[in-house]
Amino acid sequence: MKMTNLLDLSPLKFVNYCKELGEMPFRAKQLQKWIHKFGVSDFNKMTDLSMSLRKKLKNSVYIKAPHIMSDQISFDGTRKWIFHVKKNIIETVFIPEKNRNTLCISTQVGCAINCIFCSTGRQGFVRNLTVGEIIGQLWVTEFKLRREKNIKINSQGKRQITNIVMMGMGEPLLNYKSTIGALKLILSDHAYGLSRRHVILSTSGIIPMIDKLAQECPVELAVSLHASNNNLRNKLVPISKKYPLKELILACHRYITYSPRHMITFEYCMLHGINDTDIHAIELISLMRKNKILTSCKINLIPFNCFPNSNLICSKNSRIKIFAKILMNSGIFVTIRKIRGNDINAACGQLSGKIL
Ligand code: SF4
Repeated sequence: MKMTNLLDLSPLKFVNYCKELGEMPFRAKQLQKWIHKFGVSDFNKMTDLSMSLRKKLKNSVYIKAPHIMSDQISFDGTRKWIFHVKKNIIETVFIPEKNRNTLCISTQVGCAINCIFCSTGRQGFVRNLTVGEIIGQLWVTEFKLRREKNIKINSQGKRQITNIVMMGMGEPLLNYKSTIGALKLILSDHAYGLSRRHVILSTSGIIPMIDKLAQECPVELAVSLHASNNNLRNKLVPISKKYPLKELILACHRYITYSPRHMITFEYCMLHGINDTDIHAIELISLMRKNKILTSCKINLIPFNCFPNSNLICSKNSRIKIFAKILMNSGIFVTIRKIRGNDINAACGQLSGKIL
C-alpha cells in the first residue's frame, strides 16, 4: 500500500481514506481535528482513536509539512517564512495587526502569469503546490505561533491566524484542485474553522475558474485589475489577452450574483506615469458603472513595491491620494494599502523565493 501524506487530504479525502481503512466516517472528523485543529502528528497522542486504527495509521500514512529554511521579522512586525518544498522554495508572509492576524500563502512555485509589477512573475512557472504544501504553510505557522506563546496544543479558541489571503506566489486558480482542497480545510469546522469572510482568494482573472469557485467554494474574491482599459491591462497583466477585461468584469458580476453577500475587491497597483492619471481614474469609474458593479466592489490601491530590475516607479503619495479621491467622489469604496514588510522583501509583489 502506498504511504499517504495526511496533509494532502481534503475533508472529503479524509472520509474516503477512512472508508478505505474500513473505518466509520466520523473517524475522518476525529483525525482531521487532531491534525488541523490541535496540530498533533503523533498517532499515539490521538487518544479518542481506537488502538487498531492508530496501528493502521502508523503502517499506512505519514505527516510531512514544508520545512522552514528562513524566518525573518520586519521592523513593522511582518514576518516572512521561506519554506523548502521538495526541491523548491516558497514564501509565506504573516501580517499581525491589532484586531487580526493574516497569513498570505503561496499556491504555486513561481507563476506563469508574468504581471510586470511582480517579482514572482519574473521567475516564470515551476510547478503547482500540492494540498499538503499549501495547507502545510498554515499548519506549520499556526502551531509554531501557538508554541511561541505557550498556548496549550488542544486549547480551543486560541487561534493565532485569523485571516487567510491566497495572494502569495502563484495564481491559485491555475492550481484549482489543490487550492480548493486547502480552502475546504481552512473553512472546515473540524480543521481551522475560518469564516468565508476571513478568507480571500486573489486571481489575475481566470474567468472559467472564477465561475467554478462561485459554485464550489465561494470565498471573498480579489481580482488583480491594475488597468482601466483592455489595451493597458494586456501590457500589465498579460493573461488579459486570453480573458479580456470586459468579460472579467462580467464574471465578477456573476460571482456577486451567485453569492450576494460578497463584495469584489479590485487590486490596483499604482505605477507612476502608467496607470495613475486622472483619465485612468475616470475610465475606471465608467468601467464599473457600465457593468453595474460600482456599489458592490472595493478598489484597493497598492503602492508599487520595488524589486531589482523592475524598471518601474511607484506613484507619488499625493498622486495616489488624488486618484483615490476621484474614485471616492463617484461612490466607490476605496482603500490604500499600507506597505508592510518591504524591508525584508515581504511586501506585495516582492516574493521571489530567494533567501537574502
Ligand atoms: S501578481 Fe500574482 S498572478 Fe501576477 S505574476 Fe505575481 S503571483 Fe502571478
